[in-house]
Amino acid sequence: MTTFKRVDVHVEGIVQGVGFRPFVYSLANRLGLAGRVHNDVNGVHIEVEGALAGVEEFLTALERDAPALSAIERVTVVSGEPAGHRGFTIATSDPAGTRRALVPADTATCDDCLRELADPADRRHRYPFINCTNCGPRFTIVRGLPYDRPMTTMAAFGMCDDCAREYHDPGDRRYHAQPTCCPACGPRLRLRDPRGTELCGDPIACAAALLRAGRVVAVKGLGGYHLAVTASDERAAAALRGRKHREEKPFAVMAADLAQARLLAEIDDTAAALLTGRARPIVLLPRRRDGAPAAGSAAPAAVPAAVPAVAPSVAPGNRSLGLMLPYTALHHLLLAELAEPIVLTSGNVSDEPIAYEDDDALTRLGGIADAFLTHDRAIHQRTDDSVIRPLPGAITMLRRARGYAPEPLALRRPVPRPVLACGAELKSTFCLAQGRRAFVSQHIGDLENHDTLRSFAEGIDHYCRLFGIRPEIVAHDLHPGYLSTRHALEITGVEHVGVQHHHAHIAACLADNGDPGPVIGVAFDGLGHGTDGTLWGGEFLRADLTGYERLGHLAQVPMPGGAAAVRQPWRMTAAYLRDDHPGLDVARRNAERWADALHLAATGLDSPLTSSAGRLFDAVAALLGIRDKITYDGQAAIELEQRADPAETGAYPAAVTTTSGPLVVEGGDLVRAAADDLAAGTDPGVIAGRFHNGVAAAITRTCVDLRKSTGLTAVALSGGVFQNALLLDRTVQRLRAAGFRVLKHVRVPPNDGGLSLGQAAVAAARDAT
Ligand SMILES: [Zn+2]
Ligand SMILES: [Zn+2]
Repeated sequence: MTTFKRVDVHVEGIVQGVGFRPFVYSLANRLGLAGRVHNDVNGVHIEVEGALAGVEEFLTALERDAPALSAIERVTVVSGEPAGHRGFTIATSDPAGTRRALVPADTATCDDCLRELADPADRRHRYPFINCTNCGPRFTIVRGLPYDRPMTTMAAFGMCDDCAREYHDPGDRRYHAQPTCCPACGPRLRLRDPRGTELCGDPIACAAALLRAGRVVAVKGLGGYHLAVTASDERAAAALRGRKHREEKPFAVMAADLAQARLLAEIDDTAAALLTGRARPIVLLPRRRDGAPAAGSAAPAAVPAAVPAVAPSVAPGNRSLGLMLPYTALHHLLLAELAEPIVLTSGNVSDEPIAYEDDDALTRLGGIADAFLTHDRAIHQRTDDSVIRPLPGAITMLRRARGYAPEPLALRRPVPRPVLACGAELKSTFCLAQGRRAFVSQHIGDLENHDTLRSFAEGIDHYCRLFGIRPEIVAHDLHPGYLSTRHALEITGVEHVGVQHHHAHIAACLADNGDPGPVIGVAFDGLGHGTDGTLWGGEFLRADLTGYERLGHLAQVPMPGGAAAVRQPWRMTAAYLRDDHPGLDVARRNAERWADALHLAATGLDSPLTSSAGRLFDAVAALLGIRDKITYDGQAAIELEQRADPAETGAYPAAVTTTSGPLVVEGGDLVRAAADDLAAGTDPGVIAGRFHNGVAAAITRTCVDLRKSTGLTAVALSGGVFQNALLLDRTVQRLRAAGFRVLKHVRVPPNDGGLSLGQAAVAAARDAT
């Protein structure tokens, strides 16, 4: 029996750029083993030899003690003949072969780096680009693989002797940290005016002074430019809105730390973990008003005397606030200098993609920002902030981008052939699937303008190169007019697979949960292309990954004026109520065109039929006087949720009817009940609460009926309407009480941002049969 052993170990997963090789190096040294480790295109390769017990302990510790930012997917061990290595070394990377290694997401500045940042004796004291193996930019600076400095936008900065020494010292925290740098050799911060002229003085102190004076400052972040104003300054916030042409969509706020954030919003343990985690998303939280905790929550131990005000223009008409904490050293320094929270919103005009290239930022944001806090480290991939809403013990991802992309989602089954899925139109993402991995792209935006479409097409090419994927199947929505569909169909030499919009939603929820189905899928959203020539959006499907059957839907109503009815929710009130309930405020407010809308609805002229749940919410929002005209997607429904009284337990009833085809849920019953209550003088908050409960009850009742006919006991909830936390909560509660197993989204958004994952899952499942 031999007591000496040699093994070749291959580690796959997120193992590059996360300190894996130094970890292996120190582990081998500690155990007195010889050999070498290097990065290759598939991950990390290790040759290790020595005493049998040591090698066995090495293999155990390799997975048990792996670095915090790593995510091991697979370890392959092959025994071999000892090669007589002397000591253990880290060899150079091997760039040959097919690229399949993973790139980590960008990561918030770690505690060790923050300590150095604040230490006057440290050579990186107050250096805005401090980072190490455990933190810093990753995906946004990577040009290609293997993940080594020459393949990042840090290639332009030659390391000074001190940085090089740390970089090459396996005992150092910056050993092979690709973006490592210091004030002597790294990127430099500058403050510029809108013409690009450098302003003198300390950039951070000057930027803070400008913000204090009510100015708008563009700040270059990890994935693009933001626009900042102090959060308490109403004039500045209103000016920013005007210049950005963003009328009402809420701005996000960055607080210096958790303590400052607690002055603005209610933060429970789930929320605190999200805010301080390494991904640092924007977290939507119930906001505090005048220092008083929100109704129903326990008072914190010490309520601070002065709660900094958030200006009304920051998040008008919203009970929640999007909060995030600093994720770069630059943010930490700026927030510390200011000592108060700032608005930090995407650097763009209206719905354009966020600016990320310096010249383009100066051009596009020159009319908005009074100054630019910028630097000379290029951003390679435009990446917005992620947005998450915490629920008790769970989360809903609303926008998946920085901090999450491009980390792959594990699939239950390997895909037979590589798939590209092109998503839909709004909140666009694409998805590339190969093996057991699905790479859902970062949020790209609404594919309505040229810039976004270019971002989309270039993003697909970048991901294909980065992950070595050549799609053989291209999946797309059935809507022929979507730019994503057109892009998919322009790709030649591949098999095209059209996936119905709501089937893709339910498939996304199945893939998100690693569940094969079949389930009763409830897909509630704005609008999607149906197979019968109408617009769907309130659908009950029997679905698995390969197919679906439409078993029920909301009753169809006309959309008077077509697209105008999406922008003007009052038209949906007219379509639902027709001539009932004369004398309503909503009819008076829109008197000029009310009769015209009724006429269109009655005759069907320019009034496509829809079963959309989004339009049902619109109808009630306008009925209650909350919103007649919207300025961003989903606004009326979002504000209706904000107005609903969460303590209300009453629920409007809705009939579920059937003739021979699918079940039909009479959404009109809910609108008429709401109109009756309104006429009787009931408070709109109570009405909104009863409406939400009524929708949840109608969903549950329909699912119970479908369980009888199908035997299915699991329900998957998807579609943009389930971004509504109140509706989601009430629906889940009722379904569970009725004995259902409920699947909801976790890793990808329920909105169209998750759709590409569903399309990829459907295309792969059909390919496998
Ligand atoms: Zn660090
Ligand atoms: Zn240096």
